[in-house]
Amino acid sequence: MKIDLYSDTKTRPSAGMRQAMFEAEVGDEQQLEDPTVLELVETVASRLGQESAIFLPSGTMANEIAIMLHCEPGSELIAHETSHCLNFESGAPSGLAGAMIKGIRGPNGFFTAEDVHAAIRPKRHLYPQSRLVIVEQTTNMGGGAVWPLDQMQSVVAASREHGLALHLDGARLWNASTASGVSLYDYAKMFDTVFVDFTKGMGAPFGAILAGKSDIIERAWTFKQRLGGSMRQAGIMAAGCLYALNHNFDRLTDDHVNANKLAQLLGEVAGLKVETPATNMVFADTSGLGMSAQQFQDALASDGIRISAVGPHRIRAVTHLDISAADIETVARAIARIAAAT
Ligand SMILES: *Cc1c(COP(=O)(O)O)cnc(C)c1O
Repeated sequence: MKIDLYSDTKTRPSAGMRQAMFEAEVGDEQQLEDPTVLELVETVASRLGQESAIFLPSGTMANEIAIMLHCEPGSELIAHETSHCLNFESGAPSGLAGAMIKGIRGPNGFFTAEDVHAAIRPKRHLYPQSRLVIVEQTTNMGGGAVWPLDQMQSVVAASREHGLALHLDGARLWNASTASGVSLYDYAKMFDTVFVDFTKGMGAPFGAILAGKSDIIERAWTFKQRLGGSMRQAGIMAAGCLYALNHNFDRLTDDHVNANKLAQLLGEVAGLKVETPATNMVFADTSGLGMSAQQFQDALASDGIRISAVGPHRIRAVTHLDISAADIETVARAIARIAAAT
């Protein structure tokens, strides 16, 4: 594909990032001897207002370790019904942690303190016991939307009232912070565990961090080892993540500008109903064109452009490091041509 808007995971490591990886100082990660990994976990933990952190190959492993930390078999976690952990982790909450999931509905992938109160199970032996609430920031299938800080705080307060643990799925916390101006720290410090990803808007080929209190992260090491996530000279990976932090975080605003521009241009296409993007994801409904999302995706693919069909009539386009302002114009022209031909 010439222009790939399928996801912000489609970036290639840049020459600068590869050079940083090439030059990385390394050691045995499993033995806590890799200096570059140690630098990364310390840097990110402090940015997130957490005591400690652990380096992992993927965000999915980070979410699942968090679930294993907070839930025992037969207990229940509360998450939005569109959340990544519920839909795109191969059933791992049950498959690995033995946890049940209570999916909550709500616009934009958000839910409220009242929703949490309503979802919590009474403490009686016939019910699964509620243990954990997961908040996704930004919401992925919720439209790349940014939880307002006060709504997040009230969900946290409601969960705490019932003694539940809290995990932040911050795969795109970077984008949330960029869009809202709220620091990573202010979002993250109120959670027991926080995961951030380096493979989404940040442009690294792998790497995720799970942060929390020191005793929680100490326990996380057991699960990391158990899942085969302990590594050796992982400084090569961590150097890519540090490079991303230092070079690719501040530029996320470009992706948001590009997403906005795309939404604006698509808004001019008759028959296409476009949602206003909050960050780097543009969602639109193709019903008015008389086309399914899949037909729309296929039509664009013949122009060398990839977007994804995420529902019968819902399409998603994600901007990222390897998408330029000129690419956005090209995509908008191709879409206008397709619409005119229907
Ligand atoms: C991508 C993603 C994950 C999983 O991250 P990987 O690094 O791809 O395993 C978790 N949560 C959300 C919201 C995501 O978008």
